[in-house]
Amino acid sequence: MLSIEGQTNITELRAGRDCSKNLGEELGRFVVTTMEIPWNVIREKLGGKPQAVIMVETMEESWLEEMLAKLPECDTVVGIGGGQAIDAAKYISWKRGIRLVSIPTILSVDAFVTPAAGIRRNHEVVYVGTSTPNPLVIDFEILRTAPPELNIAGVGDLLSIHTGTFDWEYAQSKGKSEYPFSAADVANGRKILGKLYTLLPEIHNQTDKGLLAIVEGYMVMNTLCLPAGHYRIEEGSEHFLFYELEERLKRPFIHGYIVGLGIYLMSQLQNNQFEKIKNVMDELGLKYHPADMGIHKEDLIAAMLNIKNFVAKKPNLWYSVIDDSEITKEWALNAISGLRF
Ligand SMILES: [Zn+2]
Repeated sequence: MLSIEGQTNITELRAGRDCSKNLGEELGRFVVTTMEIPWNVIREKLGGKPQAVIMVETMEESWLEEMLAKLPECDTVVGIGGGQAIDAAKYISWKRGIRLVSIPTILSVDAFVTPAAGIRRNHEVVYVGTSTPNPLVIDFEILRTAPPELNIAGVGDLLSIHTGTFDWEYAQSKGKSEYPFSAADVANGRKILGKLYTLLPEIHNQTDKGLLAIVEGYMVMNTLCLPAGHYRIEEGSEHFLFYELEERLKRPFIHGYIVGLGIYLMSQLQNNQFEKIKNVMDELGLKYHPADMGIHKEDLIAAMLNIKNFVAKKPNLWYSVIDDSEITKEWALNAISGLRF
């Protein structure tokens, strides 16, 4: 296994087939945050006897605080599941100052590598606290019980380096970068992509190597983004289109899918190796077609026609190719002509 220098936000990575087996026996007094499906997958295998098993119902802060108040004495919290179960464990670890063990059972969101916990305060998502898994447990057998297309969705925020770095370079070229520009971070971000490109069939087929590549991609991204204090190498116009659609349609999306759609459209607006990144997404089997997400053609066109206006009204959205583009209906129709609705 490759060792990654720098601020990965992972104290120890434990990756392997069945590496979560009997882990509970070495943890002392621990509690588990999880949900029904992942807990059923792992409970026998984990071993040990948790002081409490908390089924995460919601990420509302008031619910989390009530749960914390009832929590038994413990030294470790183990988050088992997808984004919410892991974020609940991160919240407890931060609030109680206890050890965090993260066992993602699906890779569709990157909560298992990020320091802050995403919670809801009066229904709005806010990111609070810091936490670092010790260890992060990547059990390939467990991950392969998740729907493969959702693990593949985990590459969305890595592939967005393709459009994100372009936007950052573009902003810099116009003298509009919000952060000190780092050519090294851009180059190193593209190395993450380069590595993924060599492993497309492995990721598509959910091999050990493919699953590990997703996790390591995020760890390397942390080494670039955490010291910089921002995620500009992987967040740009492709995410902004998603924010527009989210506000317009008022419903959640599978993050990797909607980011994939953003990459598909914004790489065309950028004139940035569209065919190449499209082929990568197709080879991976990443779902990005509007039909995969129930997005209607008229809504997508309306979002594209409004995107420039949308980013202009949001000062927190960084300068990107969108700011200087004129998206006409004709352009939009052409850009979506290869998409399935
Ligand atoms: Zn993202």
